[in-house]
Amino acid sequence: MKGTDVDQRPEGSSDPVAPGLRTEGSHPTRTCVGCRRRDHQSHVMRVVARPIDGRIIAVIDERRRLSGRGAWLHPDPACMETAIKRRAFTRAFRGPVDVAQLAADFPAYLERRTGRPDSPPSSLKAGQYPHGNPMRTQR
Ligand SMILES: [Zn+2]
Repeated sequence: MKGTDVDQRPEGSSDPVAPGLRTEGSHPTRTCVGCRRRDHQSHVMRVVARPIDGRIIAVIDERRRLSGRGAWLHPDPACMETAIKRRAFTRAFRGPVDVAQLAADFPAYLERRTGRPDSPPSSLKAGQYPHGNPMRTQR
């Protein structure tokens, strides 16, 4: 009988996701302002605030070349909706920002990104934005 056995776990634990870990240079990650999840930079789109006509307008920075403060968002209608509802862009850009243009450009951007105009996301069809009735019964 051995009574000195220490409870030994096999090393090499592989946590699929370790939140809070800093990520090394080659795989830059960004936090989506919608769902607040970190994701690889290439999986999120960049949004920048540009001063136009004395107002601050949020626009999609498709080439990621525009200067200025950026926010990151999944190309996902759900994330966009959440971000707008939470005023996440206002927070990200540290001031009031007009997201109407952003919301208007978004469906077209999605089409361009996926390359298939005929692949509507589950709940929202492209071009069909809920104005006036943002209520979603999702249980
Ligand atoms: Zn997201």
